[in-house]
Amino acid sequence: METKLIKIRPDCPEFDREEEDGLRRAGDVIRRGGLVAFPTETVYGLGGDALNPRSSRRIYQAKGRPSDNPLIIHICRLEDLYGIVSRVPEAALKIAGMFWPGPLTMILPKAPGVPPETTGGLDTVAVRFPSHPVARKLIEYSGGYVAAPSANLSGKPSPTLARYVVEDMAGRIDMIVDGGEVGIGLESTILDLTVEPPRILRPGYVTQEMLDSVLGRTDIDATIIDPDSRQIPKAPGMKYRHYAPAGRMVIVEGEPGQVAAYINRQAEADRKAGEKTGIIGTTETLELYCADVVKCVGSRENQADIARRLFAVLREFDDEKVTSIYSESFSGRGLGQAIMNRLLKAAGNRLVKL
Ligand code: AMP
Ligand code: MG
Repeated sequence: METKLIKIRPDCPEFDREEEDGLRRAGDVIRRGGLVAFPTETVYGLGGDALNPRSSRRIYQAKGRPSDNPLIIHICRLEDLYGIVSRVPEAALKIAGMFWPGPLTMILPKAPGVPPETTGGLDTVAVRFPSHPVARKLIEYSGGYVAAPSANLSGKPSPTLARYVVEDMAGRIDMIVDGGEVGIGLESTILDLTVEPPRILRPGYVTQEMLDSVLGRTDIDATIIDPDSRQIPKAPGMKYRHYAPAGRMVIVEGEPGQVAAYINRQAEADRKAGEKTGIIGTTETLELYCADVVKCVGSRENQADIARRLFAVLREFDDEKVTSIYSESFSGRGLGQAIMNRLLKAAGNRLVKL
């Protein structure tokens, strides 16, 4: 299959005629059952018609994703929520008022019209109203309901640039809309509103602190914060290995000098054993490290920067064929919770505490 590529200028407040036409054609592709990758404020999504079971099956196929891992339905108007959800609790409206459009997904009871293929057979549905102008326009032209997981092959880090979508999806989908680098870089926060108190199933840019300030209290799925937890994850996708680079990754937690000494020692031993070694450091610690490839993920002073760079750094290690990766750990507070969650998954939960 030939994959068409169209470009939209990033950060441009208005679309020109050519861009508008391109997005209309992309919308037609989705309406006819095809698949289009597009930028959102979190990561690139792989979109298909959420109300067409064949489109959902094609999404699973293109990603190589297990079909019990449900999809998030993206809308472009708040009122469209009522078309796919059977009951909208007051808390959902409060959350929508504060965080929509934006990087937050709500789990709500499903309306009968949503095909089971889209929800992995569940009687709940995940809904998000993104803020990215390209995503919103495309959803509108697609008919209003776009199922869109991240536009990567299953198990790989989510794409934050169109180049990575091309790498994974060229030849497998109909079209890619290149809108430049995404702003946030981590997938949306997922909040389950079918339980009391509401429960965070995946941490993201909207933090637990922010949600608590609106709802009073939220729970967090134990499997997110404790890698040793034996609890069965509530979001089906959480049981799968995710966001992983090709190399074996280990996270090291402790006082910065000790962490650097430990990582350098391990990396040196790995190098002697024939591995190509990589280290993820920060502006504050970069000078301490020694390996084949040392990458800076950002400054510890700026968590948003680290979130935006993280998946690109993981992919760069793949590009450079690094086989053994070590990373510093990050605080579990605020956005740090989402960063640590993705890092732990990328590392298959290999965490060394010094
Ligand atoms: P992705 O599309 O890769 O961003 O992943 C979507 C995530 O949303 C997966 O981890 C799913 O398990 C989760 N999800 C989607 N729908 C539901 C649902 N109805 N209940 C719980 N989790 C869901
Ligand atoms: Mg994903």
